[in-house]
Amino acid sequence: MLEVKNLTKVYKSKHRKKVKALDNVNFSLPGHGMVFIIGKSGSGKSTLLNMLGGLDEITEGEIVVNGNRFSTFSHEDYANYRNTCVGFIFQDFHLLDDLTVGENVALSLDLQHSSNKKKIAEALKRVDLEGYEKRYPVELSGGQKQRVAIARALVKDPTVILADEPTGNLDSKTTGQVLDLLKEISETKLVLIVSHNLNDADKYADRILELSDGKVISDLSRRENYNEKVAVENGVLKIPYLKKFSLADKLTIMTELERKKVRMIEQRDDKFVPTPKIKYLERPKRIKKSGIKASRLLSLTGKFVKSSLVRSIFSGFMAACIIVILALSQIIVTFDPANVIKEELLSANQSVLALQNNEVYEDELDGKLNTSTFVEIEEGDMEAFRNTGYEGGMYEIISYSLSLSTYYTANQQQTAKTNIRGSFYLKETLGTLITTEEFLLQKFGADGEIPLLCGTLDAHPGGVIITDYFADSIFKLRGNADRGYEYLLGEFKDTSGHKEGYINAIIDTNYKERYKELLELYKLPTLPDYSELSKDQAFLAAYDEIVQYLGIGYSINPNFKEDCQAESLKNFVYPGRVVVNGIEVTTSSKPYFTRPSSSKLKGNEIIMGYSLYNHIFRTSYGTESVKTFQPHTIQLTAYRRADEMRTKPIRTYTFTVKELSKTGSNVFYCSEEIFKELRSDEFITYGLYFDQLDDISSVYETGTRLGYVPNSVTVQSTATMSRAVSVFSDFFFLISLVLYVACASVLVNFGVKAVRGKTYEIGVIKALGGKSKDLSFIFTVEILIVGVLTCVFSWVGLYLFIGVANDVLVASLSELATTHVVKDMNFLVFNPAIMTANSVGVFALTLVSSFIPMLTLKNIKPINIIKAKE
Ligand code: ADP
Ligand code: MG
Repeated sequence: MLEVKNLTKVYKSKHRKKVKALDNVNFSLPGHGMVFIIGKSGSGKSTLLNMLGGLDEITEGEIVVNGNRFSTFSHEDYANYRNTCVGFIFQDFHLLDDLTVGENVALSLDLQHSSNKKKIAEALKRVDLEGYEKRYPVELSGGQKQRVAIARALVKDPTVILADEPTGNLDSKTTGQVLDLLKEISETKLVLIVSHNLNDADKYADRILELSDGKVISDLSRRENYNEKVAVENGVLKIPYLKKFSLADKLTIMTELERKKVRMIEQRDDKFVPTPKIKYLERPKRIKKSGIKASRLLSLTGKFVKSSLVRSIFSGFMAACIIVILALSQIIVTFDPANVIKEELLSANQSVLALQNNEVYEDELDGKLNTSTFVEIEEGDMEAFRNTGYEGGMYEIISYSLSLSTYYTANQQQTAKTNIRGSFYLKETLGTLITTEEFLLQKFGADGEIPLLCGTLDAHPGGVIITDYFADSIFKLRGNADRGYEYLLGEFKDTSGHKEGYINAIIDTNYKERYKELLELYKLPTLPDYSELSKDQAFLAAYDEIVQYLGIGYSINPNFKEDCQAESLKNFVYPGRVVVNGIEVTTSSKPYFTRPSSSKLKGNEIIMGYSLYNHIFRTSYGTESVKTFQPHTIQLTAYRRADEMRTKPIRTYTFTVKELSKTGSNVFYCSEEIFKELRSDEFITYGLYFDQLDDISSVYETGTRLGYVPNSVTVQSTATMSRAVSVFSDFFFLISLVLYVACASVLVNFGVKAVRGKTYEIGVIKALGGKSKDLSFIFTVEILIVGVLTCVFSWVGLYLFIGVANDVLVASLSELATTHVVKDMNFLVFNPAIMTANSVGVFALTLVSSFIPMLTLKNIKPINIIKAKE
């Protein structure tokens, strides 16, 4: 049943020359019996056994087992052969330490895709290890371990048992037990034992093959009916070869010698006779296909996973760290300003994106905070915004506003220094928003109503609605807070008693509650430095709310511009930077235009206050000498206050100074037409409010393209961030690539190491008939687990880390952006889409990495493992 024909094995090692370990070996063996292979060390015994066990490749010749020729075997066939036909017993047992005795034995069956508790128990009983199922190999003695190995070989009912020096590591007593057991087994099975112990061979072998230099030098079989007795035959005392004397033997020898009839002593050496050439009956038997049982594969996987859990967690953690940094740089690269602004505005309970056509200029006092002047939004720009596809509400904010003091008024020539300089309250306001009741309800509404402290929203068509903060600012500047809010309603006059406008209602915004700390911090007369303020995040957090909502007036009248102008509620126009005959007029207070009580002026006629005239023309008219004044023409040009270089005149006139007024103030009296023209400059639209935040990205882009500068630290900070991102985006893209490669190498490295760390176990399982593809499943699972851990860790990690990263980013950005204010807001937003993409990427990498074990597994030859241990 087992036939070896012309078997030759040549080892080729790189350093040494070829070694012929087996040289044209021929023999055939029956289906049962105990065959010893003996020979000196290096004679080729192990090589022969490994070839028979299908563990090593044949160089030349053939092995035939039950009619199956090795030369026709595929990898798979070899695995099946090892699995179902061979029970291998090794010198150093090769039990898997992670498995219990029961599991080690069961592994044999599992690899055959079967399991049978009874069979396992029987096998253990047979090797006298009943009840040892739950023990681990480390808890056993050498003899016990070897008996477990025998049980493992036995349980699968193999065709042949191959044992390579099974007692090499055992003492003589246990050696006897093991050999007795194998002898018993050999009654029904072929048992091949490699040994160099001649006594054992003599005692147990049915047949002895002796090897020397890879050749079979003798092939002996035990003679049947061999007489083991010590006896005298024809005067010759015959003593069996290698006999261990019993007491009876000794007595026999003594008596026979005493009788003096013994002529000669002879050692009987005919226990083994040359094996006759027998052709054993061939009973062809197909080798069963085998495969590992799913449940065992899972439990094996579990054991492997458990033993490398720390490394899996560590690798997952490392990969996750990389993914977190990767995700951060991706979030930076894909930074979407419109979205960041939207999120920030929503979280700050602001309902609009406010864009203004401002011109920014440097102001030492204001430092980083936006110092700018209004510029009218041309119809073309309005059209551009309408064409963005934005579908929400778009409201105009106009420069008309009530002045808080006599000196400051908010008109187009004023700087837009709506501020809290010196205190939490306003010195100037930012204009009037022409909006709807719905807008006010959305912004200030509580319980479906706009909370009013007093008045009605539409009391007067040219009147404005102000906030409690606006009202308190008036009180603060005028020191008449004790009169109560009602006092402000109706006609509004400046401190000199001139009619200014009309107040319809005062909204309760509850700002005192919300800005309690700031109110405390910026109490008069503290005067914080503006460059300090630009770093104060509490101030910056309040800034937008104040300049965009609290510090402006509102009207819900769509024709407010016309109605307010028509009524001429205001009697004064401050034209900003005034140049007369090429000389800029600089006086302690600003020159203004007004109408004389009697409308005696026509067209371009004007009357000037005598002191203003004196100031400009260096004359010395007095209240009396004004009568001697001779009318003449002057050239007057008005520029915006911010236009220091006087590049863009807004109005140019040739006036005839008709006479000088006895009042000495900085007044130009003008005709009704001129006054109207100048007044219209107070009603320019300089900003737009967009209230549909979900839809603002195209609006934001258009605003950026047109160079609109919002009076909003949120939007400005985002724009700064946006610029920084565009500068560094290529760099971050590069970083992302590097990080992706780094993550890949962590995962691949884990895969390779996972296999390397288990080379021994893989070798043993393969020797027992395990297949590469089954084993690769285990490692695929291990790598997948690392993949899952990477994803979980990276989601959690990013979630926890993004806040810190954002703080660091804000800090570095404000260090870097010396001329821009940077508000502490969430530039880096946890982005599930990016993380999902990364997780998919991790899984792709995982799958790719899981091919690596498959490749390396193929290269793990059980024979090398077994040899390495010997
Ligand atoms: P034994 O088991 O009888 O002691 P082996 O079968 O292990 O001997 O070895 C037979 C010969 O083959 C020895 O000379 C040994 O050095 C050589 N040999 C065994 N395995 C290898 C190998 N993998 N590479 C090179 N030479 C080998
Ligand atoms: Mg050997």
